[in-house]
Amino acid sequence: MNILIMGPAGAGKGTMSDLILREFDIPHISTGDMLRENVRNNTELGQQAQQYMNAGKLVPDELINAMVEQRLLEPDCQKGYLLDGFPRTLVQAQAFEEMADRIGKPVESVLALEVSFDTLVDRITGRRICPKCGAIYHVRNKPSKAEGICDECGSELQQRKDDTVEQLKVRMEEYDDHRLL
Ligand code: AMP
Repeated sequence: MNILIMGPAGAGKGTMSDLILREFDIPHISTGDMLRENVRNNTELGQQAQQYMNAGKLVPDELINAMVEQRLLEPDCQKGYLLDGFPRTLVQAQAFEEMADRIGKPVESVLALEVSFDTLVDRITGRRICPKCGAIYHVRNKPSKAEGICDECGSELQQRKDDTVEQLKVRMEEYDDHRLL
């Protein structure tokens, strides 16, 4: 199954993705996660992307398109994919349509999540993530058993640098300016 999941920051794309993955044996491909990994590993792509990400701005289309195409060609995508956070602009959507057809993996299902701004603010500012295993918590709605420690792997939880109200406003503006649905 080839699936896209769309929605602004804090809409619940990660949480919904976990539920979808219980039903389908496909990889979860989050462009945000891939970029953060590149930043952590200080790759050339990570260095180019970091300034945009820290400002809550979108990373240039050509960098993202190339990254996604490379990923979709990996063997674990043979049964399909769950793409999270891509495409985010019209240019990305057009490039994706062409690329997905060319490599024989056209999209079959699209999920678009809509959530009010106040709820997004609450979810984003309370969100904590495990940098090691990717588990997602919320300080009130889904706290870890021991404060600040991942239930799954015991690592110290972190708050994403861009998970602030100020950055969320910029990210929402970016989302609205480019929204596809
Ligand atoms: P996310 O984890 O989806 O909230 O993405 C975090 C940040 O990564 C975004 O604010 C953008 O800077 C960047 N990013 C992720 N996906 C894309 C995309 N498809 N196009 C451009 N930038 C992206």
